[in-house]
Amino acid sequence: MKPAHYVNGAFTVAGTPFPLCSPVDGQEIGTVPEASRETVDEAVNAARAAFQGAWGQTGTEERCAYLRRIADGIEARFEEFVAAEVADTGKPRELAATVDIPRAIGNFRAYADLAYGLSGRAYPTTVPAWSGSGQALSYTVRRPVGVVAIIAPWNLPLLLLTWKVAPALAAGNAVVAKPSEETPSTAALLAEVIDAVDLPPGAFNLVHGHGANAAGEHLTAHPGVDAIAFTGASATGSAIMRNAAAHVTPLSFELGGKNPALVFADADLERAVEGTLLSSFTHSGQICLCTERVYVQRPIFGAFVDALAERARQLDGYGPMISAEHRDKVLSYYRLAVEEGATVLAGGGVPVFGDARDGGYYVEPTVITGLPQTARTVREEIFGPICHVAPFDEEDEAIRLANDSPYGLAATVWTNDLSRAHRVAPRIDAGIVWVNCWNLRDLRTPFGGVKASGIGREGGEHSLDFFSEPVNVCVKI
Ligand code: NAD
Repeated sequence: MKPAHYVNGAFTVAGTPFPLCSPVDGQEIGTVPEASRETVDEAVNAARAAFQGAWGQTGTEERCAYLRRIADGIEARFEEFVAAEVADTGKPRELAATVDIPRAIGNFRAYADLAYGLSGRAYPTTVPAWSGSGQALSYTVRRPVGVVAIIAPWNLPLLLLTWKVAPALAAGNAVVAKPSEETPSTAALLAEVIDAVDLPPGAFNLVHGHGANAAGEHLTAHPGVDAIAFTGASATGSAIMRNAAAHVTPLSFELGGKNPALVFADADLERAVEGTLLSSFTHSGQICLCTERVYVQRPIFGAFVDALAERARQLDGYGPMISAEHRDKVLSYYRLAVEEGATVLAGGGVPVFGDARDGGYYVEPTVITGLPQTARTVREEIFGPICHVAPFDEEDEAIRLANDSPYGLAATVWTNDLSRAHRVAPRIDAGIVWVNCWNLRDLRTPFGGVKASGIGREGGEHSLDFFSEPVNVCVKI
């Protein structure tokens, strides 16, 4: 694989190449060009020219038609996209084929619909005597922000990139996107699809490379960028924020999490166990929405934890950590948990397969108990297949434990008591609360976090709000 940059409607592999390795066996599967500061400059300048030129002249209907053609273009190359996502991430094919790529297609279709259906507001305004009396009409129109930088992580590479690219283009912005250095391939395929639908040159640009002191930082610190939409780690968000401060560049941040699940004694135990298995171990815990803290009401604590550990031990067919570095980080938390006094009920180590996967970056699905709320393992985002299960007695205590975190992205509540569900959900510090389910997403709904988990909301009109500026026009009648 040799992903290329896409700048001003042309593909280029300018820049020093770096290796791309398969997380499944550690073998090199391709090289990626590192975008230099000059390449980032060219991309930002091309985006500016497009915004001021042909792309800036397009109407909503035309832009929505482009989005639909992009969706069709991904769909037509579905298997290629799935294969590229699987090769870069090592995730099970089923996950890429049922979640990542369909959602990327869905993102373009959803934003074609949403942008087309969007309208401004109008207010009949009474004109005061000092201004001549009578009536005026105040109405709002949306203007695109301009050139937007989009930075995506490696866990859901195309899904999260397109979750921003689609609304940014729908709102009329010109885009410079940078995927994660670990997972450039589906973004490169997206550029090919966008090229094939003849989007005006410069409307969408793609640069590859690393983050700090590299392409990512060059892009987000660039004075020619009018807004930054970023998904990634909270620490990276802070670094981007410091750079963005120089130009007061608006930011949309989707950051880390340490998501709680609350399991009440009145829950359907089987459903709660299955649901927690899914929420803690899907994509080997490498989804920002994954559960890492489980609080279980004491009467069912023993039965829950035994069943969860048993299922976790039986899991197979799971994927690896994204990189050796990330595997080492996750394993360092497995060791830390034991040092902090945890009881390991399932996993805790590295699986042995007896095949090529032993050269890859796998860790075992892990269930631990016995740590205090103050333990680092319970407070810090690990981003791997591990959850800590702790008991609670009262509803208020469960809410207090859930909220005792620097993060506030998502939470899951398992209960059969309808009143409790409605009572508890809004009291949790999180942008998203799922009741008796996990990761069900309606793309029209807000998505984002509170506290260190982010700034702003994506989804539905929220993304279009970020990627456009309302202008109030007041006409005296
Ligand atoms: P990361 O922050 O290391 O990298 C994300 C992206 O930022 C990459 O493209 C990287 O190259 C770039 N980057 C890194 N440093 C940069 C800098 N100084 N300036 C500009 N760009 C820079 O995150 P990751 O390891 O790729 O992803 C995992 C993290 O992302 C986890 O913390 C996870 O919770 C979070 N995440 C959040 C959401 C959400 O929606 N809230 C979704 C997925 C992942």
